Amino acid sequence: MISFEDALSLITTDVLTMDTERVDFRNSLHRVLAENVYSDIDMPPFDKAAMDGYACRREDLGSEMEMLEVIAAGDVPIRKIESGTCSKIMTGAMVPDGADTVIMVEQTRRTEEGKVVFTAEKTSPNIARKGEDVKTGDLVWQKGMPILPQHIAILAAIGHTTPLVAKQPRVGVLSTGDELVEPAIFPESGKIRNSNGFQLAAQVQNAHGISNYMGIIPDDETATDKAISKALAENDVVILSGGVSAGDFDFVPKIMQENGVDILFQKVAVKPGRPTVFGRTKDTYIFGLPGNPVSSFINFEVFVKPLLMAMMGAEYNPVEQKLPMGVEFKRKKADRLEFIPVNVDTEGQISPVSYHGSAHIHAICLADGLMRIPKGVHELKKGVTTYVRPL
Ligand code: AMP
Ligand code: MG
Repeated sequence: MISFEDALSLITTDVLTMDTERVDFRNSLHRVLAENVYSDIDMPPFDKAAMDGYACRREDLGSEMEMLEVIAAGDVPIRKIESGTCSKIMTGAMVPDGADTVIMVEQTRRTEEGKVVFTAEKTSPNIARKGEDVKTGDLVWQKGMPILPQHIAILAAIGHTTPLVAKQPRVGVLSTGDELVEPAIFPESGKIRNSNGFQLAAQVQNAHGISNYMGIIPDDETATDKAISKALAENDVVILSGGVSAGDFDFVPKIMQENGVDILFQKVAVKPGRPTVFGRTKDTYIFGLPGNPVSSFINFEVFVKPLLMAMMGAEYNPVEQKLPMGVEFKRKKADRLEFIPVNVDTEGQISPVSYHGSAHIHAICLADGLMRIPKGVHELKKGVTTYVRPL
């Protein structure tokens, strides 16, 4: 049995990386950027009014000012501001030469002759300076980072409309078990619905892979062999669930080997998920995860997601928050690192969700995160801090 850390390092070392492609930036949400992106422009591109008001010289704020012109957003000012003059200006418009301040329209009045008078005590300059946010040539987003909506705004602003991104790994999901039926069927006696196949497929999408649900495989060696061989041929990563424990029909690891899979580990000191299997062929990865949906959920998060992200060249460090226990936690055995579904209250205090074991899928629906209990730790007293990975 290997440690959690060694298992993760076997998964994420010497990773087969995906090719890259250019995509329309509008369709690039959550794709992992495969190039550094630099600005072709200053932002703002000119000194820009940050308020609706009058552009003028600070030294004239005590006197009446003659208004020269009205500058709308998009206009180029014609007149230069000189002593005793100002121009009416709209937010986002180019500040005219000679002006160092934009006074807010709310802080002015007009005299009978139409002159502008500043009525407040003081004012900020209210000018966004050319290049103060980003300068031409600045790095605006980096290789290895997923693209979020705010990065799409940046791509738009710098006109980088076809970013280079990593191709997404295609991930085949197979559920083994004679007891399983598809969700649309009401299970007859002894059967249950396949829940974790669809959970895993959704987790793949969440990890920005392409999920390929390949159905239920009966607990039969020939059927398992056929399914594994097809799945290895058609995907970059294969995830099987079930059939990896010590039952009479748990022959997934053996059939993986018969299909040329080099098994890198078969047992990990982690709870849940001790019987997790991981292997690879020349060009495909394969996981055998435990059948229970809470186990497969957690093991996907801690083992499969880091691999998918690494394949896309992503720098992936799952966020963990250090938070205090709201209750005492005890466990009898501490021979494995353990992940436990927990709630975090509004004060940031942790309490495990009530949970009957790894088939209790509803528990994870109510959880806010996964608490990590290191190997060797038997108890956590109330108030002691520990790490939680938000869900
Ligand atoms: P196994 O890992 O095949 O021994 O299965 C462990 C437990 O998980 C058993 O109670 C199975 O019925 C259950 N299980 C296996 N596969 C699934 C699945 N796809 N959806 C829901 N439960 C499952
Ligand atoms: Mg089974």
